Amino acid sequence: AGHRGRHPLRMAETHTAHVGSFLDEEGAAIDEVVATVFREPHSYTGENSVEISCHGGPFLSRKILRQLLALGARHAEPGEFTKRAFLNGRIDLAQAEAVADLIRATSESARKLSLDQLRGRLSHKVQELKERLLSLCGSLEVELDFAEEGLAVVPAEQTLAAVTALKAEIERMIASYAQGRIYRDGLKVLLVGDPNVGKSSILNSLLDKDRSIVTHVPGTTRDLIEENITIDGMLFRLVDTAGLRESNDLVESEGIRRTRAEMESADLIVRIRDCTQSHRSPPPSGIPLLEVMNKFDLVGYDRTNISAPDEAVLISAKTGYGIDILKKKIAERSHPPAAAADVTLSNLRHLRCLEEAAKRLENALESVRNGMSGEFVLVDLRGAMHSLEMIIGVVTTEEILNSIFSKFCIGK
Ligand code: GDP
Repeated sequence: AGHRGRHPLRMAETHTAHVGSFLDEEGAAIDEVVATVFREPHSYTGENSVEISCHGGPFLSRKILRQLLALGARHAEPGEFTKRAFLNGRIDLAQAEAVADLIRATSESARKLSLDQLRGRLSHKVQELKERLLSLCGSLEVELDFAEEGLAVVPAEQTLAAVTALKAEIERMIASYAQGRIYRDGLKVLLVGDPNVGKSSILNSLLDKDRSIVTHVPGTTRDLIEENITIDGMLFRLVDTAGLRESNDLVESEGIRRTRAEMESADLIVRIRDCTQSHRSPPPSGIPLLEVMNKFDLVGYDRTNISAPDEAVLISAKTGYGIDILKKKIAERSHPPAAAADVTLSNLRHLRCLEEAAKRLENALESVRNGMSGEFVLVDLRGAMHSLEMIIGVVTTEEILNSIFSKFCIGK
């Protein structure tokens, strides 16, 4: 594209910005633009690149794009810039995945986690584990070379100790996934209770807006309603249910069926009861439970008028009484003790790789314990190393790359 004056962009230094006219094929100006030049290897992708900032607007940008395409450029594929950055060794695969997570982040906790990963926190840890495995393999290989001479270079106890320590660290990382998943995708909170106890009203007051319809007819919340809120930078996905009341009504029965299904995948169940009613106890489940007594206004805000469990949160969705406390309780109940691992795992692919690595290390331990030849131990140690390498993309397949980068937005 055209550049007014005597300094073509081709000659420009890296990290310099240039004001000029963007010309059409006849040499007439389309717009005044700023072109920023990045020379290899100091660009996002590691390749020569120029970013053009125009005045925006769909007509203008399309016209400029069309001109660039006419000059031989093409549209980037989804995630192509990040993929090139990976292929050119600017970032590893875990970091590339972090870019997508960062863009997708909808809460502070998700943002922090992705940024940590982008900056290489997970990669460094994986690299460290990999190097320890590598040196272990090295010693065992030396031992094999001297096997005929009967030289035991590495005592079995030493191998056992080293592999056990590695496995323990990997298991800590695996355990951190439960929390990482919550940081990333939020926590699913299910509001359950009999019809008319005020589930929709509570959801509304938690949200401060009228998303679910509040009515007097029991069983009107026919569908599951999901709303996101953030408390203390954490994302909570609140799900209002149709309640667990048995019903002959077909539509409502479907709601009940779905409630049961939702309950199984919830992180926290908020059981809501009406201060003025007595209730059957709902089916127990292994999921953490928060007891809430609603319509506290109807009993004059007097605890002695009701029989409520000590830990129950007393609220009134109508007047707003206790809603802040309820929010706080939800947030508290949802913070498991901080994971002991120094990295927090949030990606299912990474989890699977680490699980495989842990399995291979366990196999290696078995072999050592059974006094098997070093060759058998080595096979599993190398297998574990391979799994670690999959995380950061030292080894990868076209399939994995496609599944990762196709989820990116165009231009990232
Ligand atoms: P759901 O069926 O559990 O979703 O209950 P709704 O949110 O639809 O509420 C049922 C009825 O109880 C409506 O008439 C609400 O206005 C009323 N209600 C809900 N919360 C309160 C409350 O805290 N106090 C009083 N007095 N009425 C409430």
